[in-house]
Amino acid sequence: MDYYLLAFMLIILSGSVLVYIYYLKEKKEQLDSIKRGFCPKCKLKSIELTDQRSSGCSGPKILSFECLECGYINSFAVEKSSRCGTGDCSK
Ligand SMILES: [Zn+2]
Repeated sequence: MDYYLLAFMLIILSGSVLVYIYYLKEKKEQLDSIKRGFCPKCKLKSIELTDQRSSGCSGPKILSFECLECGYINSFAVEKSSRCGTGDCSK
């Protein structure tokens, strides 16, 4: 009986890991599309950066994008570029 429970938990665990990996992959593909200037949903060049936040120098930057055509909204945590090391940053 315990083996069934263990197997069940393993299936749930691996299932959620797969979903998470799929989610990350999808998110990355959407970000790639946005970086090229296209909306990942309607494929039009109407994507716009609406918000840009960062939590200090070392933390990732939160970029929010909005599509003017279809209303697609998403935000991405982006690692800071190497500019931080060239004295651009106060810390
Ligand atoms: Zn769109």
